[in-house]
Amino acid sequence: MTELLYLRDAYLTSFTATVVDVRSSDGADGATAIALDRTAFYPTGGGQPHDTGTLAGLAVADVRKEGQHVWHTLTASGAGDGPLPAVGATVSGEVDWSRRHQLMRTHTALHVLCGVIWNEWRVPVTGGNMEPLSARMDFEFDPVPEGFGPRIEELVNEALAADYPIEVQFLPRDTAVQDDDLIRTKVSLIPESVTEIRVVDIVGLDKQADGGTHVRSTNEVGRIRVTKLENKGKGNKRVRLEIVDA
Ligand SMILES: [Zn+2]
Repeated sequence: MTELLYLRDAYLTSFTATVVDVRSSDGADGATAIALDRTAFYPTGGGQPHDTGTLAGLAVADVRKEGQHVWHTLTASGAGDGPLPAVGATVSGEVDWSRRHQLMRTHTALHVLCGVIWNEWRVPVTGGNMEPLSARMDFEFDPVPEGFGPRIEELVNEALAADYPIEVQFLPRDTAVQDDDLIRTKVSLIPESVTEIRVVDIVGLDKQADGGTHVRSTNEVGRIRVTKLENKGKGNKRVRLEIVDA
């Protein structure tokens, strides 16, 4: 089972780990994937795209969680590449911090948006996705309130500037399922087999069970701009936004 270092320290970018499995592709791209005993690389999931960076001096092109392992797809970057690591080898990893930090700012901005919309209208989120510094989220509005775009931009930017601290907690499942905020954000959908629930708490604004990486306080996000509102059908309205420097 790969230990997920980013769950406890989203600011960790350099680490060493042991290769526990290797697989080569038959394709012409020469890509190889390796599984590690621990990793700081975030695998695609929960609406947050995977990290990039280097492992054993090779470029990490994709990161996926499959079962208990995180697989890192390595691509040759040309002359000067190190040899492909073998099972049992110790490798050094370096996460591309610029991309990761943009994703952390974006992910936190989305939680702030959820909190603001819930507090103001009591409307739940139904889905979302992000790229570095841009994102979309769907909400159960029907119809959207008058002046919605400018209003959420104002409310979110106020909350970001108010610099709410963000805490990551690990709660026993029994405790988490009794928390009103976590019930609202559908903690019950987490498989019963998960006995410890990771909670991302924007203290006083939004609390959800979440496996993503977040900044330490909301001011670190910067500001948001609502770029588009879309009608995706009855009871489903999409907000598109981008993150800009404060
Ligand atoms: Zn999240």
